[in-house]
Amino acid sequence: MQEPRALLASVFGYGAFRPGQEEIVDAVLAGRDTLAIMPTGGGKSLCFQLPALCLEGVTVVISPLIALMRDQVRSLREAGVEAGALTSGNTDEETEAVFHALDEGRLKLLYMAPERLAAPGTLGLLRRVGVSRIAVDEAHCVSQWGHDFRPDYLRIGDLKRALQVPVAAFTATADEETRAEIVTRLFDGVEPATFLRGFDRPNIHLAFAVKDNPRRQILGFAAARKGQSGIVYCATRAKTETLASALREAGHAACHYHGGMEAEDRRQVEVRFQQEDGLIVCATIAFGMGIDKPDIRWVAHADLSKSIEAYYQEIGRAGRDGAPAETLTLYGPDDIRLRRSQIDEGAAPPDRKAADHARLNALLGLAEAVGCRRQVLLGYFGEASAPCGNCDLCDRPAQLFDATDAVRKALSAVLRTGEWFGAGHLIDILTGTATAKVREKGHDGLPTFGVGRELSKTGWGAVFRQMMGRDLLRPDPDRFGALRMTEAARPILRGEESITLRKDTVQVSGGPVAKAL
Ligand code: ADP
Ligand code: ZN
Repeated sequence: MQEPRALLASVFGYGAFRPGQEEIVDAVLAGRDTLAIMPTGGGKSLCFQLPALCLEGVTVVISPLIALMRDQVRSLREAGVEAGALTSGNTDEETEAVFHALDEGRLKLLYMAPERLAAPGTLGLLRRVGVSRIAVDEAHCVSQWGHDFRPDYLRIGDLKRALQVPVAAFTATADEETRAEIVTRLFDGVEPATFLRGFDRPNIHLAFAVKDNPRRQILGFAAARKGQSGIVYCATRAKTETLASALREAGHAACHYHGGMEAEDRRQVEVRFQQEDGLIVCATIAFGMGIDKPDIRWVAHADLSKSIEAYYQEIGRAGRDGAPAETLTLYGPDDIRLRRSQIDEGAAPPDRKAADHARLNALLGLAEAVGCRRQVLLGYFGEASAPCGNCDLCDRPAQLFDATDAVRKALSAVLRTGEWFGAGHLIDILTGTATAKVREKGHDGLPTFGVGRELSKTGWGAVFRQMMGRDLLRPDPDRFGALRMTEAARPILRGEESITLRKDTVQVSGGPVAKAL
C-alpha cells in the first residue's frame, strides 16, 4: 500500500491535511465503514481520492452532480491520476476509454451517477473489475425527507451488500435525523465510524434583521457591496424576478433563477455567475447545489430559510476562498407563518412534521438569539465555541428586557378570544384600540382590553414575533393562521417561568427602537 502522506504532497500538492481529513483517510484505508459530515468546502473529496490511490482496485464514487463529477475527473487526470466517469453526459469515446482503462485494471476512481446503478450490467461490471471502496458524495440524497432526495441512492445499500466492500459516505448535512437515515439506508443500520468536524466558517459574517421593507433592505445591503458577486435567496419564484429587476434598476448586474425556468436559461445564469465578477443572482433554493464559485462575497435571504440546516448550507456558499464574506437574513411573522404552513400542509407523517417544526424552531432561535450567533449555530451542530467577534450580535450586543408580564398579557388576549385571531387584532385589543372589528366582536369589553398600553403597536409586534419564534404561539392552518398557544407557553402563563426577550430588533425604517420597550 502506498503511503498516504507522501501522495498528499506528490499528487495533490498539499502541504498538510485540513482539520479532520487525516482521521477520515485513515479510517477509510483501514476498511471501516465511515460517515463524514463536513461543511461544504471542507475538503471531502480528498478523503476518498487519497485512499483510492493507496488501495488496490477501483474506488467507485457515487455523486448526484454530473458537472462536479466531470470537474473532479478532469483535475485528477491533470494530477496524473487514472480517473473516469460513467454519466449520461459522456460521449461514446469517453465511455469506451473508461471501459478500456477498467479492463486493463488501470482505473483508480470510477465516478458514477446513481441512475447508473439501475442499469443492467453495472453490478456485473463492478464485480469483474475489483472494487476496493464505495464512496458516496452528498450522502444526504438518500434521505427521503430532504429536498435533494434521489431515489436511486437507495440502491447503494444493495450495491454494498452485493460487493461486500466498505462504504465511505460524505455529506454537509448534519442534523440527527438525516444522519440516522443515512445509517439505515447505506449501512444497514450498523453505526459506521462517524466524523463530524469543522462546521465553523469564521470568515462569514452572520447577521439577521427583522423584515420591514425587504426590497429596501436588500437594495441597501447590495448597494454597500456594489460590484461583488452575491446571491439573494427568495421564497417564491415571483420574488426572484421582481427583486432582480429592482436591483437592475438600481444599477446592479442582476438576474433571477428558479426551477420554473427552461433548463437552458438556468444554465446560462449558472455560467454567467461562474464567469462574471459582480453578478447578483436572485434565486430560489433551486440555485445552489453544484455551484462552485469560490469568491461569492455575500448571501442575503429576502425570506427566512425553512430550517437551520438549509440556512447553513445557503450562507455557506459565500466566501469559500476564505476571504471575508457577509450575510444578511431577513425574517418576520409572515416568514414564520409561511414556513409553518408549508410544514403543516406537506404530505409528511406527523412525527416528521414535528421534527420539521423543531428544525424551524432552531432557525428562529438563531434569528432571535440573545448572544453570539455563531455560538448558537455551531452549538446546534454539536460544536462548542467562544463568542466569534464576527456576527451582528458580537458587533452590537442585544438589549434584553424581562417580558414575562407582556407575554402573559398576550397569552391572555389569545385565550380570551378563543384562539381565533391573528396578531393584528390581538394587538388592537391589548393597546385598547377600538377598531370596528374589535367592537363588532365585543372585544372592547374584555378584561384584557387596553391592558397593554405601555407598549406601542410595534413593540407588541416584536413581542408576538418573538413568541412565535420561541414557539409559544403557533399559527393554526385550520383557523386561517389564527394564533394558538402551545404547551411551551403554559408555565409562563401560570407564573412558573419568566421569559426574557430582545428589545432591539424592532427597527422601524432605520429609526429608533419601539419606544415603550
Ligand atoms: P467539499 O468538501 O466541498 O467537497 P472539496 O473537496 O471540493 O470540498 O475541497 C474544497 C477545496 O479545498 C478544494 O479547492 C481543494 O483543492 C481544497 N483542499 C482540500 N484539501 C486540502 C488540503 N489538505 N490542503 C489544501 N487545500 C485543500
Ligand atoms: Zn458572534
